[in-house]
Amino acid sequence: MRPARFPGGRLLFPADGLPWEQCGRYLMTARAEQIKVVILDLDGVIYRGHTPLPGASDVTKWLAAHDYQVYYFTNNSTKTRESYVELLAGYGVATDVDHIVTSASLTARYFADNGLLPATVLVVGEEGLPQELRSVGVRVVRRRGKRPIGYVVVGMDRKFTYRKLHEAQQAIRSGAKFIATNRDATYPVEGNVIPGGGSIVAAVATAAETEPLVIGKPSPEAGRLICHQAGVRPEEALMVGDRLETDIEMGRRAGLLTCLVLTGISTAEEAQALPAASRPQWIVDGMEQVPDLLQDRIPPSEGPI
Ligand SMILES: [Mg+2]
Repeated sequence: MRPARFPGGRLLFPADGLPWEQCGRYLMTARAEQIKVVILDLDGVIYRGHTPLPGASDVTKWLAAHDYQVYYFTNNSTKTRESYVELLAGYGVATDVDHIVTSASLTARYFADNGLLPATVLVVGEEGLPQELRSVGVRVVRRRGKRPIGYVVVGMDRKFTYRKLHEAQQAIRSGAKFIATNRDATYPVEGNVIPGGGSIVAAVATAAETEPLVIGKPSPEAGRLICHQAGVRPEEALMVGDRLETDIEMGRRAGLLTCLVLTGISTAEEAQALPAASRPQWIVDGMEQVPDLLQDRIPPSEGPI
């Protein structure tokens, strides 16, 4: 029996008298069916370090063939969206800049959309971050000079130094607003994790004794933006990610459906230890199971329904 629907696609709740576990299952069945947009995290989902994860390329082809709109959303700020198009092509994943969102591109958009230009910004981060900021008209500096610094933007920087820390600290102490691209403490690579952008943000926050505005996941705005761009309601989008406190939490805050993949940072045990409202709706071993999820062959976890 298929669930009843309103003409607009909204769900009717199941008939009275069903056992609760069947009600949950019944509702989840319908919800898997109404997904139109799939938002994929990158690190720990499509690849780990420089190694593609099993099924990633095939599944993105399957999604395209089945008319899902696919977006890629990473908290990594080190590369431009154009670089990600090339990087993903190398992994057999075809997309374009309009379907890639990074914490660097979001930060640039934050400046553009909030009327903050022209702005002089001291940047701690790798090349993708200043490039994205410059593309919207931000004046990027790497150290203090004569011109006052309006903002300090901090992201992942594998050439972080005490000097950079000192520059950022002094600019913030002099009144610059502190913005972080993300607070991911770690970053998954082959068989291990390395310090993430959040580790560098923490150093600056400690030195400046100031907490930043965080632009990337788990802030919900990007999830809402993607839904707006795709022309769908939040509950018609599925966020697939490997990190509970960013990917899954962003999805929860934005009202998206969420799926944790176990090929990156977070574990199923960590998911189950969360309050029910914060758990992902689905947990899968890897990307190769996402088509099964979308075809309702993967039971929901014990998260919110
Ligand atoms: Mg990830």
